[in-house]
Amino acid sequence: MVKNKTKDIQIGAISYTKLSIYQQCPFQYKCYLDKSIYHRYHRDTPPLIFGSLIHGVLCSFYKDLLVKERNHQQMRRLFKEKFLADQIKHLQIFKNKQTINQYVAKAKQQFSNFLDSRFVKTKPYLVPEKNQRMSIGNLELLAKIDRIDKNKQGLEIIDYKTGKLYEPGIDPLQLNFYQLVISQKYPLLPVVRKTYFYLDSGKEISISTKASDNKKTLVLVKKIVKQIDADQEFKPKINSKCRWCDFRTICPLQRPDTTNAPF
Ligand code: SF4
Repeated sequence: MVKNKTKDIQIGAISYTKLSIYQQCPFQYKCYLDKSIYHRYHRDTPPLIFGSLIHGVLCSFYKDLLVKERNHQQMRRLFKEKFLADQIKHLQIFKNKQTINQYVAKAKQQFSNFLDSRFVKTKPYLVPEKNQRMSIGNLELLAKIDRIDKNKQGLEIIDYKTGKLYEPGIDPLQLNFYQLVISQKYPLLPVVRKTYFYLDSGKEISISTKASDNKKTLVLVKKIVKQIDADQEFKPKINSKCRWCDFRTICPLQRPDTTNAPF
């Protein structure tokens, strides 16, 4: 476990989410890690909940359905079941029937794209329900992997995306980080392919996969962790995702009057 002594912020297990948030904006990272700040300002949004519902359906697709049941109708049923399982919360987040209908239509389209894809024709090697946890030296790594397939050459790591494809915004670190974790877990099975599958369009993007990736990824992960550990200020950094940031109202760059700021 790594600890930032100056701010008493426990970095804890290293995930891709933590690394990418820190790279994006150190102030956002600090807010994300501070539980009281996080719970005060974090808001679930329709795209966030939608993503979680779809990921839940794709997990249940293999865990809970017989092969003959794996069809569009059953996927819609699972989606409805998962929505109703936390109905009050979901109704509050989606707010009105029109928004719910929009997301139901989106879900149906994504299920069709999934059923048309190559992924439905193969049996996954692993659909992890829990985060994959591995240690390298004093680093504890945590990876939330959607799916791993296996072929004669080795493993393919697949990450389902429910948002729109924006190619310049694709961050290879996520899949490279997962490769690092999975290579520790299955040292005899090489990772030969890493793919983002965009359910909205049915498009898949596989990123370059080489045996030497892990070495480079580990160097990068250690570098970011070192920066976090040495950071005394956690300065805000304007970036393309500011408009979706939970902490806009307390961000010094968005709100010049910081007299009520929690830090
Ligand atoms: S609004 Fe932008 S600059 Fe401010 S904390 Fe959020 S991500 Fe950082």
